[in-house]
Amino acid sequence: MDRIVAKFGGSSVADSRQIGKVKAIVDADPRRRIVVVSAPGKRQAAEAKITDLLYLCYDMANMSTDICEPFGLIRDRFAEIAGALHLSSAVPDEIDQFGKKLLRGCSRDFAASRGEYFSARLIAEYLHADFVDPADYLLIRPNNTIDPASYLKLGDRLSDPGALYVIAGFYGHDGNGEVKTFSRGGSDISGAIAARAAGALLYENWTDTSGILMADPRIVDNPKTIDEISFREIREMSYMGASVFHDEAILPVQEAGIPICIKNTNRPGDPGTRISPQLSEQTIAETEVAGIAGRRNFSMICLEKTLMNKEVGFAHRLLGIFREQGVNFEQCPSSIDAISVIVDDANLQGLEEIIIAQIQQQLLPDKLYIEKNLALIAVVGEGMVRTVGIAAKTFTALKNGGINVRVISQGASEMNIIIGVSGDDYEKAVQSLYAAFVGQ
Ligand code: ASP
Repeated sequence: MDRIVAKFGGSSVADSRQIGKVKAIVDADPRRRIVVVSAPGKRQAAEAKITDLLYLCYDMANMSTDICEPFGLIRDRFAEIAGALHLSSAVPDEIDQFGKKLLRGCSRDFAASRGEYFSARLIAEYLHADFVDPADYLLIRPNNTIDPASYLKLGDRLSDPGALYVIAGFYGHDGNGEVKTFSRGGSDISGAIAARAAGALLYENWTDTSGILMADPRIVDNPKTIDEISFREIREMSYMGASVFHDEAILPVQEAGIPICIKNTNRPGDPGTRISPQLSEQTIAETEVAGIAGRRNFSMICLEKTLMNKEVGFAHRLLGIFREQGVNFEQCPSSIDAISVIVDDANLQGLEEIIIAQIQQQLLPDKLYIEKNLALIAVVGEGMVRTVGIAAKTFTALKNGGINVRVISQGASEMNIIIGVSGDDYEKAVQSLYAAFVGQ
């Protein structure tokens, strides 16, 4: 039977009520045989996520501070789940054991992983499912990527087509017998790995929104939900700041051609957003753009030098300076006698002076300056390669909004147009573009 991997995020497993919804969703489709869960998230905005509390306990225990209060919150959250779901579980006692281990000393990753571990144990008991501990199957390499042999190992463990499995998200092992976690939000990656390991038909990602929005709702009022988007488009959107789900979660399923569906645990009837390997011709023809995403806080290092275009290796040497400092660059627009390198401020921190000094020394520019407070905005859509007028519409919208464009870039794939504007114009630019392509 074709199986579906259903991954439930922190808000979907935040308490016994939410876990009741998880059960209803799993029971509603017999193909949902593999469930991956996060640690309980927030029940309301002011509350802490279990993972945050675990990190806090770890840090406090390391400073020999009393962890009673945050640890008590963790214990209470799991006790509520076990109690309200009438589970005569060993988990509450094990949590107390874990508290002692925290005080004796354990790794930071081990401490953080217990949120998912205890969550999955309880949910497995509630669903009468087979609990799978990813520490036995998933080898996370030092560069935080998964060792490919793990797919086979986990695939073997999940081989009974009739069984219902519950896997803890967020962690695996480091090859030396120690638990290792992914980066924050990493249960999405675990879900993608499980989908690939099991050769699933579909990877469902259950969250608290009914899909991916066409623009940031903090900037645009009530943006539309994307019905269908391609893997390539979603990579562009999430790279440019759309809060989709973990961007490293896309690759495992993309390589295996398994579609993803983003669904809302609180409104399971909503269609959600489907992320497909290949968009249908009709979707491409009907959608001008998939969405608009952007990020602030970039700096642009600009150089001017007459006849730079004749100096072989000029750009190579320039980018080499960034490489030597371990700074990734986002864009590198150039003209005949000028070139700029755009970098994320977070990556530049503390390195600005040395990079400028190196450029000055090695490249002898006529002019060298930094422009701060730049925002990058991407208009993303696979259809734009064949649609006449997307660029015209983009720049007309910006002109009508009175926005000065600092940078223009379009990748060879013609999947997006990237525009750089002053950070002060960022919100207005996104609103103008949304209004032009999608409507008010
Ligand atoms: N619990 C982890 C976090 O809060 C992983 C996840 O939920 O995906 O980052």
